[in-house]
Amino acid sequence: MLISAQQMLNKAKKDHYAVPHININNLEWVKTALLTAQEQNSPIILGVSKGAATYMSSFKTVAVMVRAIDESLNITVPVALHLDHGTYDSAKACIEAGFTSVMFDGSSLPFEENLTKTKELVALCKERNLSLEGEVGSIGGVEDSVVGHGEFADPNECEKMAALGIDCLAAGIGNIHGKYPSNWTGLNFDVLAAVQQKTNNIPLVLHGGTGIPDAMVKKAISLGVAKVNVNTECQLVFAAAVRKYIEDKKDLEGKGFDPRKLLAPGTEAIHDLIIKKMTLYGSVGQAE
Ligand SMILES: [Zn+2]
Repeated sequence: MLISAQQMLNKAKKDHYAVPHININNLEWVKTALLTAQEQNSPIILGVSKGAATYMSSFKTVAVMVRAIDESLNITVPVALHLDHGTYDSAKACIEAGFTSVMFDGSSLPFEENLTKTKELVALCKERNLSLEGEVGSIGGVEDSVVGHGEFADPNECEKMAALGIDCLAAGIGNIHGKYPSNWTGLNFDVLAAVQQKTNNIPLVLHGGTGIPDAMVKKAISLGVAKVNVNTECQLVFAAAVRKYIEDKKDLEGKGFDPRKLLAPGTEAIHDLIIKKMTLYGSVGQAE
């Protein structure tokens, strides 16, 4: 059931768990994520970057495919189709294409411009009943062309951003996209607490969920994080499982070359990982 992320995130925040945001890359990812959410009776957010949408041909293709799969598989748990790290133009395109949620990442813009553009998009999203995620301060690592350096968000800027009426807020607290460097110092819970205090209980978003120790993720959820983004980790387990299939020469046995068989170990690995994440985040059984 495709809906905006607003209700599911507010409920998660109130009940102290987090909704997994799983980045999707193709049909296999969508189907696996939806079936796993249904099986675990958990809400889920399907995240799509501009790059992934371009790979699948367009935002429209993604929206039509996700809606069709959701309907065909009789998915009844809450699902949000969400633009990840959108530009202003991508956000508008996704609103038109039939997404139910968008992130506007204006963190690389001057703060005043980030605020102005976010405000315009809040109005557009409210009109269409979509949820909007805003971002303050850059998050370390590389997400498409948005490059950050592991900054921490300024709680006062977060306060101004939250006051615009956004539904959730991504704020840098030392998290990084992709694999974490060995000298990473961990999440900064003082910054998280300060942001939380200034933003009037708005659900917070933790990006770069791959490689953050479980205990830190749990603590972040206890301090107001209601959405955790996972992308790289799904890609890693998918690649490892398909690699093993080929190294074991299973593709050379019978019709093992059939893509439906070749990719099956990869999707099975994503399924298992999503269950682990839902269990860690506390979202199992939380679908209304
Ligand atoms: Zn991100």
